[in-house]
Amino acid sequence: MPTREKSYAALLAELREISLLSYTGQVLSWDEQTQLPRKAADFRGDQLSLLARLAHERLTSDRLSDTLGALESSGSLGAEDSDLAVNVRQARRSVNRAKKMPSDLVAELARVGVVAQQAWVQARKASDFPSFAPVLEQMFGLKRQQAACLGPTAHPYDALLDEYEPDETALGVSAVFESLRAPLVDLVGRIAGSARKGRGELVTGDYPRAAQEALAREALVAIGFDFDRGRLDVSAHPFCTHLGPSDTRITTRYNERRFNDAFFGVMHEAGHGLYQQGLPTEHFGTPCGDHVSMGIHESQSRLWENFVGRRRSFWIHFLPRLQAAFPGTRGVSVDDWYRAVNHVEPSLIRVEADETTYNLHVLLRFELEKELLTGNLAVRDLPGAWNAKMKAYLGLTPPDDARGVLQDIHWAFGGVGYFPTYTLGNLYAAQFFEQAQADLGDLDAALARGEFAPLLGWLRDRIHSRGQRYTARALVERVTGRPLSAKPLLAHLERKASEVYGV
Ligand code: ZN
Repeated sequence: MPTREKSYAALLAELREISLLSYTGQVLSWDEQTQLPRKAADFRGDQLSLLARLAHERLTSDRLSDTLGALESSGSLGAEDSDLAVNVRQARRSVNRAKKMPSDLVAELARVGVVAQQAWVQARKASDFPSFAPVLEQMFGLKRQQAACLGPTAHPYDALLDEYEPDETALGVSAVFESLRAPLVDLVGRIAGSARKGRGELVTGDYPRAAQEALAREALVAIGFDFDRGRLDVSAHPFCTHLGPSDTRITTRYNERRFNDAFFGVMHEAGHGLYQQGLPTEHFGTPCGDHVSMGIHESQSRLWENFVGRRRSFWIHFLPRLQAAFPGTRGVSVDDWYRAVNHVEPSLIRVEADETTYNLHVLLRFELEKELLTGNLAVRDLPGAWNAKMKAYLGLTPPDDARGVLQDIHWAFGGVGYFPTYTLGNLYAAQFFEQAQADLGDLDAALARGEFAPLLGWLRDRIHSRGQRYTARALVERVTGRPLSAKPLLAHLERKASEVYGV
């Protein structure tokens, strides 16, 4: 019988090697989304498929199960949030999940994911949904199989959502949306009817790419993104990925006619990057060094994008820099710019949506992907269903599928159950930021001086350094002393609407 110390060392070594396999796959994925020649997709699919299969075989091996079993039967593992207890509990969770999945299905999901992403890029470029439909159909077929393997769950969607937001359910997410939907629709209506118009036109005009990139890099450095441990590049769909403990990659895309897209996109991805750079490197490759959930990840990106980047005090510091970079903004006051970057107006593209209408974009996707998964909605009917919901929630009809159903990459890579984590992230962010303000004294005075370290330190201490010690909802309660609630987000949006639109 091996000693507990030996078993624990064996567990950590095995988990680290499995994570090396998956991080190697991330390098290939990053390259796929930023550099890959179109005709290389099939071979890249084979490479990623092999890595996914190898990682899956290691995760489901008898050796790992025996090691975990020995630890679980070795008596008390100590406090629930001790390193040992957390690593054993979370490894067990991953092993149990992996064991329910046949390795052929794992490999096929990875392969089709690559092929579908490349098909999506082409289809979006040509606004040609029918060319994407067959591979999307194939992907949803695989996701149905995956949900069946991982179940039974109350709703097949729960099995997929659990991969991104452990312990969350379709029912829990629906309740969240229910508490948001009516107040948001009401707020959007009041803003539309306000006599005071926004200053949204200020962010459109002449914004050369080189100056945008320089300002974005300056903001990244200011808020604490470490370029010795990360990069900023260009891709079709902005994202942030992690290739190792000191290798965080952010991407963006530049729109020379509109300031917001790249700048706030970069602030968003930087929030993800700061979380990743703040995870404890000594625990890299084990649950104590990993993020809690995609919703908590998203809370960090939303916090830096909206709660910091769209704050008036942030622009007290950055407006002179903006004006140096873009001569067209030189006559603009802090208040005008604050109103411009917080302009609320229903729009077609989720990633460019304002904070207030954003959650309605997510609601639409959540409802559609549930229906696609159960088969109540056929892939061929998806564009029509998409456009009908856009009309119902945002009053708009996409002029083409590129600006409608083809705008997001998620379904192509198999990320069914991912979208709700965006709205959960908004809620977590609002609740965290409210607490940070209470704990840090005059946070706005610090932001106006360009001092971001106190806020980043607070996030590092309360959230980043904790790894997977707590579930998302438990972490929120621990950090803020209250269970998750829609109130902080709604209060934040109401406050802005009152400042910007006088409603
Ligand atoms: Zn994000």
